[in-house]
Amino acid sequence: KVTCRAAPGVGNGGTKAIILFFEDISQMEEVGQMRRDFVTNVSHELRTPLTALIGFIETLRGPARDDAKAAARFLNIMQDEAERMNRLVGDLMSLNRVEENERVRPTQRVVLNDIIQSTCHSLQPLALQAGVKFEFESPELPVEIYGDSDQLTQVFTNIIGNALKYGASGGRITLRMTTVAREAALRAPGVRLQVIDYGAGIDPVHLPRLTERFYRVDGHRSRELGGTGLGLAIVKHIINRHRGKLNIESALGEGTTVTVMLPTEPLS
Ligand code: ADP
Repeated sequence: KVTCRAAPGVGNGGTKAIILFFEDISQMEEVGQMRRDFVTNVSHELRTPLTALIGFIETLRGPARDDAKAAARFLNIMQDEAERMNRLVGDLMSLNRVEENERVRPTQRVVLNDIIQSTCHSLQPLALQAGVKFEFESPELPVEIYGDSDQLTQVFTNIIGNALKYGASGGRITLRMTTVAREAALRAPGVRLQVIDYGAGIDPVHLPRLTERFYRVDGHRSRELGGTGLGLAIVKHIINRHRGKLNIESALGEGTTVTVMLPTEPLS
């Protein structure tokens, strides 16, 4: 889409002239639209739990005032809804922070094996609850890269968390780490970390959009499982900061493989 502005000017030899300015505004409009969509989505995501909270408060003050059993039940739901809002605000803040420092390359040396181990350790209670066993396939030697330890922990918490939330029916999750002399997608030496689940899988038509903010394959199920719809968007930004690549493969009924590729050489 192009706009055209005209302004009076002076041509060669002092003759009067008109200058025409053409400007491509399609990209500006697209950015504006994306920003509006984001605000609409955030408002909607916050309003749903807020409406529920207001409804329950009114009920507790009115019809359920003297019903201790109902009150206890409603308070539980209210706590869930408040926690949902808390998670959403936390993820929005993470997204903001990650976007802010996306161009600043991490300078710390981190050991990826340790990050994966400690992430799985933190998720162990959830795995137990879901009846899932972690299987590790890592190189003998520790793999070191330049990275931000907290952010990489968030990447693997989100990806392994998703495998637990959506792929638990497979009963196990494989965590595979391999070093590659030259990772084609990075055009550099790298390390590949794969989180493989054997659960319900994702219809491949959804794969290209999974890292969009608030994109969910099944919104109802995601909300029920405590998802904010921002997890993979955060993952993508963090991987960009590390000059890495993300790849998601899946087939319905066969499970999902999420591959994170990170460069092992110093970042420039
Ligand atoms: P959410 O907070 O909804 O989990 P994410 O951005 O982390 O948001 O993931 C986006 C969507 O991708 C999820 O809602 C879910 O539908 C789908 N998804 C992600 N990982 C998996 C997986 N391992 N198996 C099946 N579906 C998945």
